[in-house]
Amino acid sequence: MIPITKVVVPEGARALVQEVLESGSLAQGVMVERFEHACAAMAGTEHAVAVSNGTVAIVAMLQAAGIGPGMEVITSPFTFAATLNAILEVGATAVFGDIDDDFNLDPASVDRALSERTAAVLAVHLYGQCARMEEIESVVAGRGVDLFEDAAQAHGAARLGRNAGGLGRAGTFSFYATKTLFAGEGGCVTTNDRELADELRVLRNQGMRARYEYLVPGYNWRLTDLAAALAIPQFADLPSLFERRNQNAEYFRARLEHLPQLSLPSVTTGNTHGWHQFTMAVRSAECAYTRDEVVERLNAAGVGAGVYYPRAVYDYACYREHPRVVISDTPRADAAGAHVFSIPVHQHLSDVEREQVAEAVVASVEGS
Ligand SMILES: *Cc1c(COP(=O)(O)O)cnc(C)c1O
Repeated sequence: MIPITKVVVPEGARALVQEVLESGSLAQGVMVERFEHACAAMAGTEHAVAVSNGTVAIVAMLQAAGIGPGMEVITSPFTFAATLNAILEVGATAVFGDIDDDFNLDPASVDRALSERTAAVLAVHLYGQCARMEEIESVVAGRGVDLFEDAAQAHGAARLGRNAGGLGRAGTFSFYATKTLFAGEGGCVTTNDRELADELRVLRNQGMRARYEYLVPGYNWRLTDLAAALAIPQFADLPSLFERRNQNAEYFRARLEHLPQLSLPSVTTGNTHGWHQFTMAVRSAECAYTRDEVVERLNAAGVGAGVYYPRAVYDYACYREHPRVVISDTPRADAAGAHVFSIPVHQHLSDVEREQVAEAVVASVEGS
């Protein structure tokens, strides 16, 4: 099976983990500080605050910004559940726009979702491609609405020359095992807002500024130095990792673009795609097989194809019945959920493997 993600621990990480083991400082120590510097450099922001995972990063970001009960947060209906769970966790109400060709929040749909209770927009940079933040910014201009990024899948991606994580008031990254850069579990918030970063550091550590000096009731959102040590060497690999993912994406485009059965990923002008996933949609009018059948055929051929995500994020009873989830029509997110699938595009694919993947995709959608 050619897997859709492959965890390869870089050689340099072993030495750093060993260093942590011998240092006697296992959490919120020197390695976490180094990790934060690397995160800030990646996002092009002045500050990065490490936390225990990407979901906590969103919760922390929203809470530090004062987002809570009675406030509405507009987000994408086509995302991982963590985005929605984080909004609900801080007590805010989730409102949805719809998506565009690039699977990201459509700025025009944000306009339709605005109300006098809108406090923030949380855009998601899905599959490694940035949402059109500058257009969302003009839609909400002058309304006192904060702009946030869920960049869990967008390490090193850029839009109009600025990096993901630095396109709004603050952004979050995940370092979960299957993300482009990984720590096992890990997260961070990136921002140019000094006060927000300060608030995050206090909240992260039980609300303490100095030892036993409590300013607010806080949490334990800290990251371990072991996790930070695993991730640190990977930042240096970002350019080569991107180059390879980009080559793989170009290769798939060249091999698959003649197929009427598929609609290939749309890259929005001005975006540097991070290719966290290479995600296509099955065009049901042209294809003899359903999306699920195509994925089964790919899996049977040894290609680890996956579906991210099979439904709009709110389309489960626990959210549909939730008093703080505002359901609206999201035809484009519904269609994406029914038709998308992703194939391996990661940097560890060999030339032979990517050829096998392309051939399997062709064979899985053709014929009847
Ligand atoms: C992975 C992911 C998260 C959550 O990150 P964790 O580290 O798994 O908590 C949030 N949003 C999106 C879009 C993700 O893909």
